[in-house]
Amino acid sequence: MYFHKDFECMPKADITKLQNEKLVKQVKYVYDNVECYRKRMDEARIKPEDIKGIEDLKKLPFSYKSDLRDYYPYGLFAKPLSEIVELHASSGTTGKRIVVGYTKNDLEMWADCTARMLTAIGATKDDIVQVAYGYGLFTGGFGLHYGAEKLGLTVIPISAGNTERQIETMIDFKATILACTPSYALYLAETAEKMGVVDKLSLKAGIFGAEPWTEEMRQQIEEKLHIKAYDIYGLTEIVGPGVAYECSEQSGMHLNEDHFLLEIIDPETLEPIEGDVKMGELVFTTLDREGAPLIRYRTRDLGFAKVGTCKCGRTFVRLSKPMGRSDDMLIIRGVNVFPSQIEEVLLKNPEGITANYQIVVDRVNNNDTLDIFVEMDPDLFADDMASIERLQKQLVDKLRSVLGIGAKVTLVNPNSLARSEGKAKRVIDKRKLI
Ligand code: ADP
Ligand code: ZN
Repeated sequence: MYFHKDFECMPKADITKLQNEKLVKQVKYVYDNVECYRKRMDEARIKPEDIKGIEDLKKLPFSYKSDLRDYYPYGLFAKPLSEIVELHASSGTTGKRIVVGYTKNDLEMWADCTARMLTAIGATKDDIVQVAYGYGLFTGGFGLHYGAEKLGLTVIPISAGNTERQIETMIDFKATILACTPSYALYLAETAEKMGVVDKLSLKAGIFGAEPWTEEMRQQIEEKLHIKAYDIYGLTEIVGPGVAYECSEQSGMHLNEDHFLLEIIDPETLEPIEGDVKMGELVFTTLDREGAPLIRYRTRDLGFAKVGTCKCGRTFVRLSKPMGRSDDMLIIRGVNVFPSQIEEVLLKNPEGITANYQIVVDRVNNNDTLDIFVEMDPDLFADDMASIERLQKQLVDKLRSVLGIGAKVTLVNPNSLARSEGKAKRVIDKRKLI
């Protein structure tokens, strides 16, 4: 099932042609309407006419999150506020928040993107979607809402939080699709288990994104809630959810290439990374955003893209799960560590532990320390101290072989770590707090 078959299954050559045409227009539009871009292009001695298609993209300057901060709130908008009909802001995971504006056409395009996403997981107007992403300035709630509405689904706009009430609502209203962050999905699953009502749920699928999560986490959510769990990717700067989405194959997230142009670059050399399955920084150019267009926006997200037609028939490239932002990378005793690597080790060895964990990095006597707190299973909790210590030691060994450095693992009591209703805060880096 497709929402826009003509686009989603467009032959590669036609997508490229469309991208070339849209890029030329968007660059001219941005040059004419956004002072910051005009200045930068003038400085680089690039005129809009020099950009004839994707092959010229390299000539254009990059844009950064810091630009959105420097020109906060409206300095990068390409339309007067009289044409901006909605504002959204990032949740501010990595510093001062940024704001983006949508025109009526932008909202249409966004709704199309999330409608495609819902269609790709098999949603129809007979489905009932519980939108447990936050509504508000965060893009999650409204983004999902607009697409579901466009597709004619029944929407439960419950927003995040009030967890037991969420479960009751899901049961009473017979929700078939759940949309929230993966960490909240796990919390909901845990709560449903505790309430003893998992078998009363009518859920068949979940669409989860807005934060990094591993395949192991997917497996746990799928098993606990008896659903298929789909990954979605998006960021406020570009549009919000709906930038890329998984189909029923669950093998990479199709990028809406008719709206967003992807480059993958080496974040050090800034050179493009060619070929399949090569990790790099995702850089996006919006091809038809009116309110807040972005050219060569460096996301800091690290991932790769698979090209070629998917088994589902879609031709859009498929993004890997982003392993996190380059800013999320921890440098511990000189070694690069991604929180997602730690999650993978923990969740691959689920015996005796749950998926609730917290990473604490500190510096003691000029030496970096890495502490990992993991909640025990209630069964293990009831066990003797020796088996708890044995398990801690096993996890330390496994982490060392993957990360290449030593970590201290402490198994803590069930339900002792904070739960998240939105994006999980897994890492506390005390070195940054000093
Ligand atoms: P904030 O920057 O405040 O977190 P956003 O809500 O716009 O604001 O977050 C977008 C970011 O969330 C992305 O740049 C990416 O790092 C992360 N993200 C979104 N979806 C996913 C996903 N499916 N997997 C991993 N990371 C994701
Ligand atoms: Zn597919």
